[in-house]
Amino acid sequence: MSSLDERLGVLRGTAAPIPHNARTLAALTANPSCERRSLLDAAGIDKDALAAHLGLPRPLRKSQLALDYGLAFERQVTAQAGAPLVPLLRQALGLSVPEVSYEDVNSVGSDDDTSPLRLRRVHTRSRIRRAAHGRSDPRTLLDHPVLHLTVAGHQAYLEPDVIAFQREGVFYVVEIKSFPVIHGQPDPIKATAALTQAAAYVLALRELLAEDALPPERVSDTVVLVNPRNFTRYPTATPFSAHKQIKNLSRHLGRLRRLPELLDKVPPDTTFDLAPGPDQKPTRPRGELVAALATVRPNYTPGCRHHCDLAFHCRTEARHQGKPAALGTAVREDLAGIDTIATALALTDGHLHPSRGQKDLTQALRHAQRIHADLQTDTA
Ligand code: SF4
Repeated sequence: MSSLDERLGVLRGTAAPIPHNARTLAALTANPSCERRSLLDAAGIDKDALAAHLGLPRPLRKSQLALDYGLAFERQVTAQAGAPLVPLLRQALGLSVPEVSYEDVNSVGSDDDTSPLRLRRVHTRSRIRRAAHGRSDPRTLLDHPVLHLTVAGHQAYLEPDVIAFQREGVFYVVEIKSFPVIHGQPDPIKATAALTQAAAYVLALRELLAEDALPPERVSDTVVLVNPRNFTRYPTATPFSAHKQIKNLSRHLGRLRRLPELLDKVPPDTTFDLAPGPDQKPTRPRGELVAALATVRPNYTPGCRHHCDLAFHCRTEARHQGKPAALGTAVREDLAGIDTIATALALTDGHLHPSRGQKDLTQALRHAQRIHADLQTDTA
């Protein structure tokens, strides 16, 4: 075990590590400046368990109804050996029906529903390499494949929904999502999140092909999203460019190599161990956990609640510290460059002299204050 692993192990404590997945990788690109999240994820710490122990609301928990709906939609699309998916991809990617076959990696080597990830990964790897070298059926949909992606020197298992082999020698990632596409338009926030997850699969597939010195262009930047059409449960497939998301994710994965620097900033005995008792319930005093979190710099933004289990903790902390982000996205953006609400107020009422970079913003704040004062006089 490397000294880096040992230090991350101390942070994590007695719990087993939670590996990165496409969702956590996508979250990296949503708030790349957050050292707290980078470190917790690198150590494989269960942020949902931390939030639960701190008695916080858990914004990322999906209702069972939503989970069941998503699963039912995915099953509907891949039922009967992918029969509903084939015409959709034929249209989206220009595949012809007789050329397409289907294979479900989920049940490789076992009679039950699922096989261990490792076995599925070995099978996926072998199928993709054979297809890439033209030694197998050139037109196959691989359902529930498992890929590896190197994240900060560790192998993370990723599970794309479907990989389509190959049009003109190029592989495509297909993501099945249960949010609707209404009149050809998906919800932009959800679509971006889905494309960022798909970007992780594209990079993992490229990493696999690179083992055989095959170029990254063998995996397309175009990702096919399969969603319910309008307000129905009929699926529709739409190709989207994930070029931007792939570039962003590659850059952020590169930054994870800075982990030793982040670790050096944390006091050596810091740990996020929940200290489970004999009944597996956490016994760690909450105050200690909050103090441990305070040793790692956060970068709270109102968008955190869409991608991080600790959003409510970090929001409360931002409020206590008077950070503009605690007042919402608009205020955070309007006060860009000013680190606290107190500074903004002091600049507005003249108690603080603006620096050169703060002059325009100070003028705008004072102008807003005059309007506010006039309105108050008018209504008095
Ligand atoms: S909620 Fe906190 S830990 Fe999570 S990304 Fe935001 S600032 Fe970082």
